[in-house]
Amino acid sequence: MHGLHIWTLSSRRIALSAHLIVESLEQWPTILAASRHTLADQGITHVTLQPEPLRNKVHWLPAPAQRLRQVVQE
Ligand SMILES: [Zn+2]
Repeated sequence: MHGLHIWTLSSRRIALSAHLIVESLEQWPTILAASRHTLADQGITHVTLQPEPLRNKVHWLPAPAQRLRQVVQE
């Protein structure tokens, strides 16, 4: 997980957004439901979660490594 943001919409409504790294997008419906459930238990009801397949991990890597990944994939 990264890009986590939590803020209040009102005195009683808490919002959260984050990116979740998942091994495959097929798992996403299950992960999303479980995450929403866990967050609701914590009183966080306004949730925006973005799935990121593991292969997109380059999202954080500096440019040279990104080029390396492209080379490896070609
Ligand atoms: Zn991200």
